[in-house]
Amino acid sequence: MDDLTGIIQKNYAQIQSRIDAACQHSQRSPESVTLIAVTKYARMEWVAALLELGCTHLGESRTPQLEERAALLPDHIHWHFIGPLQRNKVRRTIQHTCLVHSVDSIKLLSAIDRIAAESNLQPRVLIEVNLSGEPNKKGFSREELLASWSSLCALAHVKIEGLMTMAPHTSDPELTRPVFRELSQLRDQLQSMSPAQVSLQELSMGMSGDFEIAIEEGATLVRIGSALFEGLESGN
Ligand SMILES: *Cc1c(COP(=O)(O)O)cnc(C)c1O
Repeated sequence: MDDLTGIIQKNYAQIQSRIDAACQHSQRSPESVTLIAVTKYARMEWVAALLELGCTHLGESRTPQLEERAALLPDHIHWHFIGPLQRNKVRRTIQHTCLVHSVDSIKLLSAIDRIAAESNLQPRVLIEVNLSGEPNKKGFSREELLASWSSLCALAHVKIEGLMTMAPHTSDPELTRPVFRELSQLRDQLQSMSPAQVSLQELSMGMSGDFEIAIEEGATLVRIGSALFEGLESGN
């Protein structure tokens, strides 16, 4: 086994066991949490090593790299789109993805819905929420989302399956807990306002520095990049 494979195997195993421990700690089943390996900065050899380990959920944040990799890698991979999505790239992006995490405006959601209708697709999406109010962060504010919820639910071709957030950068991961808790409560509130066909089962929250706390607060999808590739030299 070469160094690269060994390092990724060790990182992956450690993250898996930390996910399991966080699930146990919060009395959740480990199957209720999916690890998404964020490969936006990973070289192809690293991605190949991850696939060897059985990782099948990969996250990319740029459409060209997503397309390039989806063309090269096996069909059974579930691609998650987690970056800012330009409206002129929606068509190409939804063809490859199982879930778009980063729907940050009504305009974008409407564009996805229109293109979905034209392409006869039913893309699954999450709504990105900016709960920390940081101006450089993307996403709906809580107020904006509550006010527009019924019109978002009226779009017939997209399937809104939950919410996503990025916690503020902080040296103390405990400081992210209130943000994760608020996302979970907002999901419950929106669910109670939703028509019967809308089921908000997904909460995409938690990254390398704070995923255990996110799991304790109900995350179903954790997006982990740097912790998986720790010890390797970055490719780009
Ligand atoms: C890069 C990125 C991640 C992964 O962050 P790490 O701290 O490297 O784990 C997760 N989510 C989004 C939206 C990202 O852009």
